Amino acid sequence: MGLSVRAFTRQHIVAIAVGVLVAGTPLIAFNFWLSGVIERQGQAETDSAARRMISLSESRVGEVVRALDQLAAAGVAGCEPANAGAMQRAVFVTPPIKELAIVGSDGRTLCSHLNIAQTATADIGNADAADRNLVDHRVLSSEPLDSRYMLDIVGLADGGQMVRLRLRAGDGPNEIAALMHASLLLPQATAKTDRLYSYVQITTRQGASIGESGEQAKDAGEGFTAMRTSEKFGFVVNVVTQRGRTLAGNVDLKWVGLFVTGIVVVILVAFGMMVPKNLPNNPVAELERALKAGELVPYYQPIVDIQSGKLRGAEVLVRWRKADGTLVLPGSFIPLAESSGLIRAMTFDLMRRVCVEAGAAIGQRPALKISFNFAGALFSDETIIKDVSRTFAGTPIKMSQVVLEVTERDPIENFTLTRQVIAALQGLGVRIAIDDVGTGHSGLSYVLKLGVDIIKIDKMFVDAIGTDRNSTTIVETLVDLAHNMRMDVVAEGVENFEQVMHLRNLGVRSAQGYVFAPPLPGSSFLKLVEAMDTLGAENAGGAALPRKVAAA
Ligand code: C2E
Ligand code: CA
Ligand code: CA
Repeated sequence: MGLSVRAFTRQHIVAIAVGVLVAGTPLIAFNFWLSGVIERQGQAETDSAARRMISLSESRVGEVVRALDQLAAAGVAGCEPANAGAMQRAVFVTPPIKELAIVGSDGRTLCSHLNIAQTATADIGNADAADRNLVDHRVLSSEPLDSRYMLDIVGLADGGQMVRLRLRAGDGPNEIAALMHASLLLPQATAKTDRLYSYVQITTRQGASIGESGEQAKDAGEGFTAMRTSEKFGFVVNVVTQRGRTLAGNVDLKWVGLFVTGIVVVILVAFGMMVPKNLPNNPVAELERALKAGELVPYYQPIVDIQSGKLRGAEVLVRWRKADGTLVLPGSFIPLAESSGLIRAMTFDLMRRVCVEAGAAIGQRPALKISFNFAGALFSDETIIKDVSRTFAGTPIKMSQVVLEVTERDPIENFTLTRQVIAALQGLGVRIAIDDVGTGHSGLSYVLKLGVDIIKIDKMFVDAIGTDRNSTTIVETLVDLAHNMRMDVVAEGVENFEQVMHLRNLGVRSAQGYVFAPPLPGSSFLKLVEAMDTLGAENAGGAALPRKVAAA
């Protein structure tokens, strides 16, 4: 009991370990892969967001630059009323431009596209009057945008910021300047970008902040970051995205993850259903292991000549001797060995073991016969003929000493083939016995057509001897029949002397049963053989029973 509980737990631990390995490995690999994908995807999204911001800023600033270039080319360089139309048109067709102005050499705004018409007629020097119509601003920083343009960051009274581009116009000291909202250089806050970016910033070549939005992550390790520089204008863009906010970290891959986990669970369940066939708690695998481990061993039940009292030989009966010493009887594993096909390997293994263990003792005593139980199915396979002859070739046991027992209990599937195989085996010198006669359903006359050499009378009839008239008659009939057909008779399961006397009176020659000896382990059987027939003593017709055994 304790043993089976221990085996049960060990198996389950093995099964769980195997299950965890089988299911866990792909799951871990998948999650590893998935996090790699999310990582790469997240970084790629962040990089491309930064690239988009660069191209946005370049295209917006590029529009303004083109508009100013066109005005300069058109000769706009001062506040002459003639320039009003061109300036107003430029603002109208260039969306990013909020205000166009003419700036003097001292940096003061002389006029804008909004008041150029009035300032032309007014006192040009009255800058206060002109300024009143302009966007109220303060220059925070100035630096070159490129070889021709200056870039100013302009602070508004309300705290907002604008970008101003200035271009030297004409031959005079004046410049044309365009104001644009800094926010135009930042991504527009759509629902999608809102979700994606946690922080964006754009600065000038020299590091002045043009604009920023969102909150910078407290822990930089929490998100992906990308930094890009505009080759055209030197703007530097910084983008930070939060891990969970990238599109990759969002819905799609989570569903993929869930789906794959589901598949792994299905595989695990399927595996769990299959595993028991391959684990030790599977009886076939366990029997196979026992066979390989040499745990299936031969026992020998002596067969005695009840006319002379001599030992005629033995029937080999398999025993499963487990590692812990327990002995398992064949009734509990032979059916499994037969149905699984292991019976063939087991039978031949048993034969080889007998050759090694008792070959010498048997071979030295030609009158001794050694019987093997041979499953019916084996007789419908011609290849066993060769196997039987190979097994005993080169061993002390002669073919004429080998008896194969075929049971009458199992129906004979291919009668013709079975008969041919039996005949071929008999050709080798092997003798064939019909086991359990009287218990099968084939009918005795049918079975006898197989042409066997020996009839083994089942214990059932032996038990009934003396008590049941019919049984006595059946045994009598069988013995007569056997003698007429020149077959030998062996009575099985003989348990008392009364039965021995009866069988002897009926003319039965050989018997086996507990009254003589139970199936014996090899060592005991060899001692018995020695005791009953010390070599050199007259051994014709078998070994004589020692006085003690014979009298018992
Ligand atoms: P079986 O061939 O009819 O073997 C005789 C059975 O009766 C044996 O049981 C034996 O131990 C038992 N027996 C012998 N004398 C007496 C007795 O006086 N009284 C009682 N009550 N029983 C007695 P065992 O060893 O348990 O074997 C059972 C069956 O398993 C065998 O029946 C045989 O059909 C099968 N078997 C055993 N070894 C092998 C084998 O190597 N190959 C095949 N195919 N079958 C085997
Ligand atoms: Ca038998
Ligand atoms: Ca039998």
